[in-house]
Amino acid sequence: MRSRLLRVQIISASTLAVSVWCCVHFSAAAAAEIPTPQQFLGFRVGEDKKLARWEKIVEYMRVIANGSDRVRLRELGKTTNNNPFILLEIASADSIKNLDQLKQLERKLYFQGGAPTDAERDEIFRSGKAVVFVSCNIHSTEIGSSQMVLELVHRLATEDSPLVKKILDNVIFLLAPSLNPDGQIIVTDWYNKNVGTEYEASPLPWLYHPYIGHDNNRDMYMFTQKESQLTARLLWHDWFPSVWLDEHQMGSQGARIFVMPATDPINQNVHPLIYRWNGILGQSQAAALEAAGKEGIIYNSTYTNFWQGAMAWSGWWHNQVGLLTEVASARIASPIEQRRAQPGRPAPAVEEDFQGQQRRQMENPNEPLPPPRDITPRTEYPRPWLGGKWTLRDIVDYELIATMALLETAADHREQLLRQIYEVNRATVEAGAKGDPAAIIIAVEKQHDAREVAHLVERLQMAGVEVSRAEAGFEADGRKYSAGSFVIPMNQVFARYAKDLLEKQTYPEVRRSPNSAPEPPYDVTAWSLGMQMGVEITFAKKPLPSGATLVKLTDAPKTPGSVEGASNAFGFEYLGADSALALNRLLKSGARIKLAPNSRAGKEWTYALFWGVPQSSVERIAQETGIKMFAHRGADPVTGFNQSNWPLKFPMPATTQSLVAPRIGLYQPWTANMDEGWTRWVLEHYEFPYTTLHNADIKERPGGASENAGLSSKLRERFDVIILPDQQPRDILNGFDSRFVREEYRGGIGEQGVEGLRQFVREGGTLIAMGASCDLMIDKLPIPVRNLKRGLTRDQHFAPGTIVRVQVDASHPLGLGMPSETYGFYNNSPFFALVEGFSSQKASVVARYPNSDVVASGWLKGEELMAGRAAVVSIEMNPGRIILFGLRPQHRAQTHATFPLLFNAVYSAGTKSIQ
Ligand SMILES: [Zn+2]
Repeated sequence: MRSRLLRVQIISASTLAVSVWCCVHFSAAAAAEIPTPQQFLGFRVGEDKKLARWEKIVEYMRVIANGSDRVRLRELGKTTNNNPFILLEIASADSIKNLDQLKQLERKLYFQGGAPTDAERDEIFRSGKAVVFVSCNIHSTEIGSSQMVLELVHRLATEDSPLVKKILDNVIFLLAPSLNPDGQIIVTDWYNKNVGTEYEASPLPWLYHPYIGHDNNRDMYMFTQKESQLTARLLWHDWFPSVWLDEHQMGSQGARIFVMPATDPINQNVHPLIYRWNGILGQSQAAALEAAGKEGIIYNSTYTNFWQGAMAWSGWWHNQVGLLTEVASARIASPIEQRRAQPGRPAPAVEEDFQGQQRRQMENPNEPLPPPRDITPRTEYPRPWLGGKWTLRDIVDYELIATMALLETAADHREQLLRQIYEVNRATVEAGAKGDPAAIIIAVEKQHDAREVAHLVERLQMAGVEVSRAEAGFEADGRKYSAGSFVIPMNQVFARYAKDLLEKQTYPEVRRSPNSAPEPPYDVTAWSLGMQMGVEITFAKKPLPSGATLVKLTDAPKTPGSVEGASNAFGFEYLGADSALALNRLLKSGARIKLAPNSRAGKEWTYALFWGVPQSSVERIAQETGIKMFAHRGADPVTGFNQSNWPLKFPMPATTQSLVAPRIGLYQPWTANMDEGWTRWVLEHYEFPYTTLHNADIKERPGGASENAGLSSKLRERFDVIILPDQQPRDILNGFDSRFVREEYRGGIGEQGVEGLRQFVREGGTLIAMGASCDLMIDKLPIPVRNLKRGLTRDQHFAPGTIVRVQVDASHPLGLGMPSETYGFYNNSPFFALVEGFSSQKASVVARYPNSDVVASGWLKGEELMAGRAAVVSIEMNPGRIILFGLRPQHRAQTHATFPLLFNAVYSAGTKSIQ
């Protein structure tokens, strides 16, 4: 209370001294009415075991915005769970008054609406501000930053020190207090439920984003989630900040904070100056922390400079200085005690991954952590952390210092930053005009599915890339392209991003010494989005001829759907992921559907024939899904197919199956599985109805309450297909098993659940296993398949996220609608060989890796071991079926090219023969 009085007195004094500045007077008067965070919350920010929940944070920010002329609050939209997603715009009162004008200067710095004239450029240098975006708390258990912002914003809104004045005069500070408000609420509620009980350290049993958990920081080129889309709109359509800091937390055992620069390898599509500014700004944060006497500050460690997909790092290819801080974690808001290291005495060699740490902490929540192992002082870590107590308040303090240091340095370097960012932007545009590459072209012809072309273009546009459409045919590098082809000219400010996203990745191996094994990358090594979406891309080296008439798209392209002719039966070519969306809407409308594989000029294709839906519904569904449908003019579709007017003639095979909507069960463990979340999102996005299954549902005793004739298990009575997402068998079987885990979330499906699954298959159910969960099938059910990945060392075979070539049997029910050669995503998951099985079993390979050139993009060690091996296997168990996905058909919802494999697998459970 005393300090608050003092502050008011100081403000009053300064007001007198500059009383001609009326805005300062108002600011001071208003500031006096703004409560401190402590007054507002009733506890000090970062106090042990106390958290401010999202609605309280938003409320406080509104109080400040209402009381201060330095702070503006905007609600950018709603989150997945319909919570407010907010942005604060913070600057001097004068800047806030002229915010739109200043935004135009920043946009012009990024060549929006064309290159700046010399006069505009000089005006940017003179009057422009350093626009700095700070995003917090995308990972919800990394909760410190969502609390820290309360004190930060209060300080900037109320303090009249020379430092704060300098920042406000030179910087426009954009602040997202949480990039994942839903998760902030999920984690706060879980913590508050358990704090003070024996379950205080028990991990969250579900994801901290409604769909994708921790992977919300892997979505910054696919933009599947609302939060990523809102962030992209802010960054690349609205403000174009030059600097972007994303604040995270890391493990609890080592360094206290990571600051930039990050570590090798670098990505050569990033302008070197961006990496230099990473150093300047990151090191200014380190210096401020050292000056404050803080220990354990590290750079050049863990986080690599290569990879697309994470939040602030996606800024690099946009010529934005993307920065990361990672502060050591407490146990949410509970303090952690760590034994102190003794310098000179070697610490016990226990390498432990994050999950191992989590398990051990859960088993012994009250035991101090072992002492830190990395205690060697060196250039990037001059004052190592040696152990001790660590609290939420420590996290808040480190983050406050680091954030203020960034703002101060940006203020000090305002003009230099603007001049140099301008140079990077200018050089990028000029290099593109010279060529090699001059443009990226997405031809309209030769594409497997035109709708995926439109989806890809929309993704690029979300990232601020300018895409044009050719009005007439043209030639580039000697190849002819038709009118309607999409062109991404490289003489644009985000050319580096488009190039990096669409080209083949070549991951540079990094070794600590010539004889040591290559370092694993931080995340995946490939993202080539054209490959992942099954879209062919070409790079034009030479500038396009001046005759090419390109029109810049202002909206996302639409693929027009249509219905030709009138009938009571219709057909279309079943092709790609959007075809499944159409099928699901048709099924919902009561249609009867047949999928008929055919072959035309040696190529497999699939005819989707349906009837029983009024023409008006057919037209609506065709429009919505962008599919060309045709009236089927043959005989009764159930009995004969002698149609004459169908433009694609084919004989209808005798084995035609009729599709019925399969009843899907999706397994969700209590261990928060991201692949489950992604699968759930994909199923929902393509409108497959499903039911979530927990351990108890799978453990249901066979012979229970079933009244269905011939079925003894409830599981089979309820479902046609059960999906097990990628998860280690031991986690499926055992889950988290500890007395410190709430009883209702303890354990896995156990042997009883395995028996339930066996029974489900015995009774004709289809079981789909993806990634690591395939091993559960191989180990627990007698199936004629061997996982060849098993037992291989990292030296022999290692692929931490690679795009691979895949050959698909397009005549197999699971390969319907797919090209015979496509691309898939592989991530250290199984690959298979078929072995001798029981006579009742019939295993078939749906997709395999080619005999050579398996790798299409990214890095993979031991390619030859996978050559020719099976990627997707279907085993008829008579009557049930087991389908194993070694390659990841729905990885992070990016792999549109292989979605149909999963969708067909699901449909295969719902087909029945029509007689
Ligand atoms: Zn994080």
